[in-house]
Amino acid sequence: MRVSGFGTATVWLPECPDVRLVQGFDQVVDYRPDDLVVRVGSRVRLDDLAALLENDGLCLPILRNRGWLGYPGETVGGLVGLGLPHFHQESVGAIRDWVIGMKMRLASGEVVTSGAGVVKSVAGFDLHRMMVGSRGSLAEILEIGFRLSPIALKPREQELPSFDGSTWIHRVPKGFVANHGIMDSSGRWIWSDRKLDIPPSGWGLGPGGTRFGSVDPISKQYRKNLKNAFDPNGVWTEGWKQ
Ligand SMILES: Cc1cc2nc3c(=O)[nH]c(=O)nc-3n(C[C@H](O)[C@H](O)[C@H](O)COP(=O)(O)OP(=O)(O)OC[C@H]3O[C@@H](n4cnc5c(N)ncnc54)[C@H](O)[C@@H]3O)c2cc1C
Repeated sequence: MRVSGFGTATVWLPECPDVRLVQGFDQVVDYRPDDLVVRVGSRVRLDDLAALLENDGLCLPILRNRGWLGYPGETVGGLVGLGLPHFHQESVGAIRDWVIGMKMRLASGEVVTSGAGVVKSVAGFDLHRMMVGSRGSLAEILEIGFRLSPIALKPREQELPSFDGSTWIHRVPKGFVANHGIMDSSGRWIWSDRKLDIPPSGWGLGPGGTRFGSVDPISKQYRKNLKNAFDPNGVWTEGWKQ
């Protein structure tokens, strides 16, 4: 079974006939602008979250000003579940650096929480960080807590170049250039929407979740262990084709 938000990433996922849309969980659960934290249901739309924060001069700097590409329905759960590199990665860090807590439903049906509602917390294991980029393969994310930043500190956004290839994501290794795809705010190409003719370092994703490039064996084993621990009976789909 695959948990799905709005489904914009379907082209990069292995085929799965059994898709389950997250039901409910489309509200802001807790918003404390003075503490720079927000907790939202996983089905909240990225644009709605950005608009709410903007009213208070705040933002989540891993988001573009309007979703990723202005699709009307992209969800917070989809952003976190997919966990791709984003436009301001070099300057503000990865998506998982902004996630401070989570509520999730395990394959057994048990609902568990991880993290806290505050920016600084050292208690417990950071299970929520492992869920970033898990592609629906470990658990269903129900709520996500984020830390926030003042808009004034957000890096300037590059205009998005015209985009016509939605079937390849090739992460551009440092030192290489692409001429089509996405730049981060420093002007460095971070991924190409075409398969590049360069050595396969880093990673790339093609249609149907095909992965190319080097997959480091330690991460591969780590993911296998996680899958065994979280979902031993394979209730959730695999997020990748190996
Ligand atoms: C041309 C194009 C370019 C894009 N560029 C970027 C980009 O640069 N960076 C980026 O991050 N994204 C990018 N996206 C991908 C995507 O649009 C966004 O990440 C979006 O936020 C996904 O939201 P969604 O609701 O459509 O997710 P979905 O497609 O529904 O889901 C995405 C993944 O997350 C999992 N998932 C969804 N909800 C949950 C949940 N509640 N619990 C557990 N797992 C869940 C799904 O199983 C799936 O593996 C791009 C998409 C397109 C088509």
